[in-house]
Amino acid sequence: MRIILLGPPGSGKGTQAQRLIERYGIVQLSTGEMLRAAVAAGTPVGLRAKEIMASGGLVPDDVVVGIIADRIEQPDAKKGFILDGFPRTVPQAEALDELLKHRHLKLDGVIELRVNESALLDRVETRVAQMRERGEEVRVDDTPEVLTKRLASYRSQTEPLIHYYSERRKLSTVDGMMTIEEVTRAIHRLLLALGAIEPKTHAKAAQAKTSAKPAAKAAPARRAGEKASKKAKKPAKAAKKASKSAKKAPKGTKKAAKKTAKKTVKKTAKKSAKKGPKKAPKKVTKKRAKR
Ligand code: AMP
Repeated sequence: MRIILLGPPGSGKGTQAQRLIERYGIVQLSTGEMLRAAVAAGTPVGLRAKEIMASGGLVPDDVVVGIIADRIEQPDAKKGFILDGFPRTVPQAEALDELLKHRHLKLDGVIELRVNESALLDRVETRVAQMRERGEEVRVDDTPEVLTKRLASYRSQTEPLIHYYSERRKLSTVDGMMTIEEVTRAIHRLLLALGAIEPKTHAKAAQAKTSAKPAAKAAPARRAGEKASKKAKKPAKAAKKASKSAKKAPKGTKKAAKKTAKKTVKKTAKKSAKKGPKKAPKKVTKKRAKR
């Protein structure tokens, strides 16, 4: 699985990436974290980035593209990765397209976490308070002043990526104002619909959860996985619908949006099942062989 999490500071990209790596065993490539490590280690890249980061600006494209180019070559990134905080500009996105093309790798999708800007400052303040409570070092750029600058950078340089990926039919949007758990579930549904994760993984996770229960009770979980496998045959359509309902959901109707997304997925699964589920594995194999 190769996906990008897109969203302003405080939208929950880091939190969701963490959950995804735990669940699917892939790596999170966060340019922010890599840059912070470079600053701490005092490397040439770190020295170049230090002041820019502290002021809330963006580190030059060539620096971050270089970091990512090296990182995706590492063995632990072979299975897949989540890009968190990269790309942040259109030239970075173009460079990533080239990097992936040369390596014959496919990007499964870009998930935008959409949030109300007014909530972001609160969220970052909460993050800072929690870090202090745990005795962790607080980021120098997690202050209201720098956050304002980081948001401005996001708006002017990163938001155009929404259009960039939407044009390339890669973009799905999730309502990032839902609870952490709900956002995780919405992302999971999207990944299934996109065909980025195997329904098997889903079934395994569900089975692991029910492993303490008798076998008879675990069976429905397996069936759920099978259903999802059929659904994966119409990835683009289902993803679009699921994402659309998440996007449209006004405040207070999030549950309704979730239901719609679930229904969409189920409907697609049923339709696909009628059309001949036996062919599904072949298609999946073919697709993967291309990557
Ligand atoms: P983050 O941890 O993603 O919020 O990133 C922290 C800071 O690192 C940002 O405010 C930027 O200064 C820098 N940074 C991280 N990723 C990038 C990127 N892809 N392009 C440019 N600057 C970046």
